[in-house]
Amino acid sequence: MQKISGPVDFPGEVVEQFKEILGPANVLTDPDNLEKFSKDFYWYSPKLKKELEDKRADIVLKIDCRENLRRVVSICCRHQIPLTVRGGGTGNYGQCIPLYGGAILDLGGMNRIHSISEAGVARAEPGARLITIETEGRKLGWELRCMPSTFVKSSLAGFLCGGSAGIGSVTWGGINNGDNVKSISLMTIEEEPRILKFDGRECVKTLHTYGTTGILVEAEISLAPKVPYNQHIFVCPDWGKLLDWTDSIASNENLRKRLVTQFQWPIPSYFLPLRRFMPEGCHGMFLLVDREQSEVVIRSAESNGIRHTHLIPYKEPLRPPYLTDYTWNHTTLWAIKKDSTLTYNQLNLGDNFRNKIDQLWNRFPGEIMMHLEWIKGIPKSQNTESGIFCGCMPLIKYKSDQRLREISNYCREIGIFEANPHTYFLEGGAAHPDIETKRQLKSETDPLGILNPGKMRTYQPNPFCEASA
Ligand SMILES: Cc1cc2nc3c(=O)[nH]c(=O)nc-3n(C[C@H](O)[C@H](O)[C@H](O)COP(=O)(O)OP(=O)(O)OC[C@H]3O[C@@H](n4cnc5c(N)ncnc54)[C@H](O)[C@@H]3O)c2cc1C
Repeated sequence: MQKISGPVDFPGEVVEQFKEILGPANVLTDPDNLEKFSKDFYWYSPKLKKELEDKRADIVLKIDCRENLRRVVSICCRHQIPLTVRGGGTGNYGQCIPLYGGAILDLGGMNRIHSISEAGVARAEPGARLITIETEGRKLGWELRCMPSTFVKSSLAGFLCGGSAGIGSVTWGGINNGDNVKSISLMTIEEEPRILKFDGRECVKTLHTYGTTGILVEAEISLAPKVPYNQHIFVCPDWGKLLDWTDSIASNENLRKRLVTQFQWPIPSYFLPLRRFMPEGCHGMFLLVDREQSEVVIRSAESNGIRHTHLIPYKEPLRPPYLTDYTWNHTTLWAIKKDSTLTYNQLNLGDNFRNKIDQLWNRFPGEIMMHLEWIKGIPKSQNTESGIFCGCMPLIKYKSDQRLREISNYCREIGIFEANPHTYFLEGGAAHPDIETKRQLKSETDPLGILNPGKMRTYQPNPFCEASA
């Protein structure tokens, strides 16, 4: 852990200035709010729980327009106050936990959807919730191309800056893919903040940077034509048989699908509200597919010895129950609720994924339970022939930090790509081949090094860290 070189310079007059700009009700300094707004879902990782538990902001600023954001940023630059931006606060690796105190900027009030074009492009402010974009989009015949399973709480900027892929990614890939993101506008962290706009593939360098490379103030994202989905549950006691069938469904380009997920027993036993559809000892498969194709899929399952146990149509306008509430990182949440000794990892199994699953089970018997999510084409270098690869968020029985490292090392050894969720450093998570580009971007957008300091470990300066002070 990097050390703080000294207390943050936080003169009382600055608090008064914030109150003047934002109104007193939008400047929070009471301990309960400081605690609440300083935390995310970092506790999924027992390692991060130890490392980040005591981190707190000194002030929370609730901001609802770009002009007020600009004035606040300017003051923070003048006084060298660390700034950490927050959306819905659902990140998993302490991405919006301030390492050095300072100000949390809650942009939940900057939530306008400016437009949804006839060509299916949504332009919105950072705090717009994904559920709102999805709902407004569906009214016009569109849906989000990909969204995290936290779409009800997550903000647009939080997903683009902290997330990667999710529901819809089996068809459209993740945030880095193709033209899923059309443009990003960032506010620089300077006494006179500027707006930098990035278009097309230039956007990629601004994505998944944990809010270290400027403040996202507007984004344009491509939507997909809306599909009336059915949500299905299938079960089978034979892991291999289910895996073959699930993979064939995921790779079938003729199916209009939004989700393909497979769980190893006993993971389905953690989904308490679904227990009656998930018989003891059976592995589970969840699928969202165009309701016109449901019958074909059910027949295919039955002819392969797979049982169909449940169907829930998507509601219009969209509302629960969502089967996606049990997928992606929600799976981990259900599991930890039931057994607090569990944690997880994030892997791309790449080619020969069946073998790699067997290798992991053999090397760490009884420690790893498989949770698989099929994704289209990210990262490009790891594509399988169909362009669909098997993402894996296995549940892991936590023994020690050392054991987590052993699992990571073994994954690397057998050619599994890991986005390590047990680190809060950008460089320590996924392998960032373009980290140099991201560092360069930060030097343009945050020359003082006060935006979410410490998260991009290799960036200098960090005025709050002894080593670089
Ligand atoms: C139960 C659960 C399920 C999840 N499922 C998924 C999933 O399916 N796919 C997935 O990718 N992730 C998933 N996540 C992780 C997380 O929910 C997503 O990444 C989510 O999109 C984050 O959005 P948020 O608004 O909560 O962001 P926050 O947690 O508030 O922020 C995330 C990061 O973005 C930065 N940020 C926020 N706003 C801005 C801004 N305006 N400018 C610059 N930086 C900003 C923050 O500083 C932080 O570094 C899951 C997490 C949980 C707890």
